[in-house]
Amino acid sequence: MSQPSPEVYERDRGMDAHNAVMRDIRSERDETYDAHEPTRVWLDEDNTPDGVKTSLTIILNTGGCRWARAGGCTMCGYVAESVEGGSVSHEALMDQIDVCLEHEAENADEPAELIKIYTSGSFLDEREVPAESRRAVAETFADRERVVVESLPDFVSAEKLSEFTDRGLETDVAVGLETATDRVRHDCVNKYFAFSDFEDACAEAAEAGAGVKAYLLMKPPFLAESEALADMVSSVERCAAVDNCHTVSMNPCNVQRYTMVDELHFRGGYRPPWLWSVAAVLERTADADAIVVSDPVGAGSDRGPHNCGECDDRVQTAIKDFDLRQDPSVFEQVSCECERTWELVLEEETAFNQPLAR
Ligand code: SF4
Ligand SMILES: [Zn+2]
Repeated sequence: MSQPSPEVYERDRGMDAHNAVMRDIRSERDETYDAHEPTRVWLDEDNTPDGVKTSLTIILNTGGCRWARAGGCTMCGYVAESVEGGSVSHEALMDQIDVCLEHEAENADEPAELIKIYTSGSFLDEREVPAESRRAVAETFADRERVVVESLPDFVSAEKLSEFTDRGLETDVAVGLETATDRVRHDCVNKYFAFSDFEDACAEAAEAGAGVKAYLLMKPPFLAESEALADMVSSVERCAAVDNCHTVSMNPCNVQRYTMVDELHFRGGYRPPWLWSVAAVLERTADADAIVVSDPVGAGSDRGPHNCGECDDRVQTAIKDFDLRQDPSVFEQVSCECERTWELVLEEETAFNQPLAR
């Protein structure tokens, strides 16, 4: 297992340049956030290995990701949402959980079956979420069916996860793997770990009886549409083949503020993926041995995954339908003239002439 120190990876790996640019971009931010309020909270439903469950998704406001402080990933603006000063106390984190429980009580008839906790970093990193808070969260949600916590692979340990599994909770770790291709993860995403670290984290989670949900990123900067599509098809297949990785969530890249992707997009050098590409990956990997879902954020907008503007809503509905039913025939029911433009882009766009069409 790797040492949880971004600095180690920064040396000798050619990441210094990416990190320097990212630090510069992030330093432009000037918002500050209240440490007693979660970043976001919402109710939804999710496909799990035990079927579709009602869910409460919580984005805790923590000190932000350690890697983002070193520079961080080219598409990630989350650190811009973290609190001033860099760390959040146990009491403040518990206040955030209370706000989420109130939101749930006001808006749902029943407590959600599934609780998903993200931190814009790593819930299992004790610099972000102290052990005391982690245990209190496990206690608070002990009566639910399932919990998902987000973490980079470095911080996944059977000991921490057993605090959840020992309470009878089905537990999953959400790992932002982004791609199974190490070269793309290092050079396009600027993320420091290797696919083998992800495999190790899956084995570690298994020791505690927990599972893993891999998060993939479709179309980081510097990949043409066809390269991004091929990268996702092979990544879904490789993740599904890893023992204990039962779900793959493929998220199309969207343009977030204070990121390298934003700078490229502003200068006409980056277009988020087509929704047709998202659909194509889901269709082509439908027989993979894992639940494969996608939740395109900002779909249909210029800064999110989009098609021509006419068909975006219909394609997004088909994707949502696929997420719940895993039936690729949902995509046969949508078509649009812009598929021809998309096909041309797949054939002709290269990493050095992109974007071929906006
Ligand atoms: S994507 Fe994850 S690892 Fe990368 S900077 Fe953002 S929070 Fe940190
Ligand atoms: Zn269209």
